[in-house]
Amino acid sequence: MTLRNLVDGIFVDTDGTNGGNYGAIVLEDEVVMIDAGMIHTKSREVKDFLIKETGLPILKIVFTHSHSDHVFGAQAFEPVSLIASAPTRKRCEENLKGDWKVENLKKNYADVKDERPDLWHALQDLSIRLPDVVFKTYIFLGNNEEISVKLLGGHTAGSATIISHPHNVIFIGDLMFSGQFPYGGDPTCDPDRWIMALEEILNLGIETIIPGHGPVCGLTELEEYMQALIDLRANVEDATSSSMTVQEFMNEGMIPQEIQNGAERFAERTLNHWFQFYG
Ligand SMILES: [Zn+2]
Repeated sequence: MTLRNLVDGIFVDTDGTNGGNYGAIVLEDEVVMIDAGMIHTKSREVKDFLIKETGLPILKIVFTHSHSDHVFGAQAFEPVSLIASAPTRKRCEENLKGDWKVENLKKNYADVKDERPDLWHALQDLSIRLPDVVFKTYIFLGNNEEISVKLLGGHTAGSATIISHPHNVIFIGDLMFSGQFPYGGDPTCDPDRWIMALEEILNLGIETIIPGHGPVCGLTELEEYMQALIDLRANVEDATSSSMTVQEFMNEGMIPQEIQNGAERFAERTLNHWFQFYG
């Protein structure tokens, strides 16, 4: 298990071996999970560890967004309340009718069988259910509203951020892939809103930022990341007005230096969506 104590009362896993980053906020009488990892057998170890370590129950999971690498681990924490923005719940509903059907999961993940046996094994008895607490713009948690959750959209229509006020930390989910090219190919991804969301987060001035992927970072890295997405957007807008293709865009080095890491994984799918968005 790769969960670690970030500061007193905050645990995070940014290792990437259980899907996206996730973490836990310790309140006076409960622990609130932020996302759940992807492999429920691994997430189960996280649950056992946290209960033993804190002596408190885990009653709630807040989802930053609807992607599988953040929500598939949730069953490990049952019984638990699943909290999500309305657009995130909507995506989960749609996914349950399509990509998340057991037969489709087995088909779509067949390739990872040998490469990621833990994931493949966990998919065999995966059970996914819909979030049961849904909020429109804000929700506050804790006896004294220690946690605020806000819908910002951008990376997906339902993307939300979670602030733990006593700890002065913010979880921003996949609005940031720290030091990496982001996956921005969700059909509801809106690059303009995404950049606005990053600007709003930056203006909060919270110095401990937990991204959806990559290491925990601060305001300097966030600002650089936002600038990289602004540059990427400008390049995409130029490219679409000169009818350049995605392939040409990638070959001609139009991906900003700061986010070239990981581009081989996500650039094509992300750019296909962004080209359509601005084209
Ligand atoms: Zn993710």
